[in-house]
Amino acid sequence: MKNYHVSLLLIMSVICPQISGLAEEKSSSQKPINALMITGGCCHDYARQKLILSRGISARANVKWTIVHQGGTKGNVKIPLYESKDWAKGYDVVLHNECFAHVTDKDWVDNILQPHKDGTPAVLIHCAMHCYRTKDNRWFDFCGMTSHNHGPHHAFRVENLKPDHFITKGLGDEWLTPKGELYNAAKIHETATPLAHARRRTDNKPQVCVWTNAYGENKTRVFATTIGHHNETMVDPQYLDVVTRGLLWAAGRDSDDAFQQTSSETDEKIKDLATIKPEPEPDAPPKN
Ligand SMILES: [Zn+2]
Repeated sequence: MKNYHVSLLLIMSVICPQISGLAEEKSSSQKPINALMITGGCCHDYARQKLILSRGISARANVKWTIVHQGGTKGNVKIPLYESKDWAKGYDVVLHNECFAHVTDKDWVDNILQPHKDGTPAVLIHCAMHCYRTKDNRWFDFCGMTSHNHGPHHAFRVENLKPDHFITKGLGDEWLTPKGELYNAAKIHETATPLAHARRRTDNKPQVCVWTNAYGENKTRVFATTIGHHNETMVDPQYLDVVTRGLLWAAGRDSDDAFQQTSSETDEKIKDLATIKPEPEPDAPPKN
């Protein structure tokens, strides 16, 4: 009779995984990360970059995307998404790959920051660092770095400062970007942890270009990189490895089994996205 109970329990564990604590733990770590990507604005090929980032990251980790591409190609647009106070509700992490430097309304910017202050993790890519120039530190405190400008376009060598960190351990000692636009890091905030830097040509001084930040009283996890101007750099597998690991870290899923190495075939498909003809935006004006 005793054996019968044990067998029944075993069978039940297989049929009903929810009764087994182990199975439950496994299924929750395999639950997709519900990510929101916000993209649009000045100076970058966001129509392709949203494909490169979403497909490149989802090829490496279990991430389900909602992509909001708004604001056209100007840097002064208040995008409709942020009209709501609940714009980030329900998402595990928000990726900002937007470029709205000339939106300077402090209340507007506070509404963007509030969900992150409340604990929603963030991934910040490239021009996100140059957004929302309110002439104070509110946006820079979120980024963990103050940057006002960038250097000329050329490839640069990214030096890994923390090869043992979850985010940068796949990067090797250094990585040469295919193309580049290196941001000048005027100030690294006390809440930030630099992970990699590159040297600017003019004076050879290192500029932090990959880092993490602990934002606000809740010490919200923020992963940030100023790398990401050119599609050619963004499709590089080493770039997508670092950004995926950064997103996993931000979302609190920084365990090795959450990251999957891509095949060379997948890498080639992602590289094709750098020049693919993108679908027109649903709200884009018709082209004559
Ligand atoms: Zn740029």
